[in-house]
Amino acid sequence: MEELPKCPKCGSEYTYEDGALLICPECAHEWSGTQNEENSEDIVVHRDTNGVILSAGDTVTIIKDLNVKGAGFTAKRGTAVRNISLASNPEQIEGRVNGVKIVLLTCFLKKS
Ligand SMILES: [Zn+2]
Repeated sequence: MEELPKCPKCGSEYTYEDGALLICPECAHEWSGTQNEENSEDIVVHRDTNGVILSAGDTVTIIKDLNVKGAGFTAKRGTAVRNISLASNPEQIEGRVNGVKIVLLTCFLKKS
């Protein structure tokens, strides 16, 4: 048997399960005990320089002139990058600049 977590509200040990919910009989607090464990991994959140969450398909603006390694050009400040895709690294997205698909660091981007 798995041990149930204590009530986060009053610390009671006498919690019990009711479906996906955990219930405390002492203060009647109900909460979902398993959700955090299941969702804590594999979630990568991409944020722009202002902390705004980025999603695939968003348009972002480059806020700094960036030398694109290997592509031989500079991605100019103010350039809009449309229809971005998210990389597995939370600090990177991919998008097309000058027709070339490049990796961009989210800290140099602002959501449009
Ligand atoms: Zn309680």
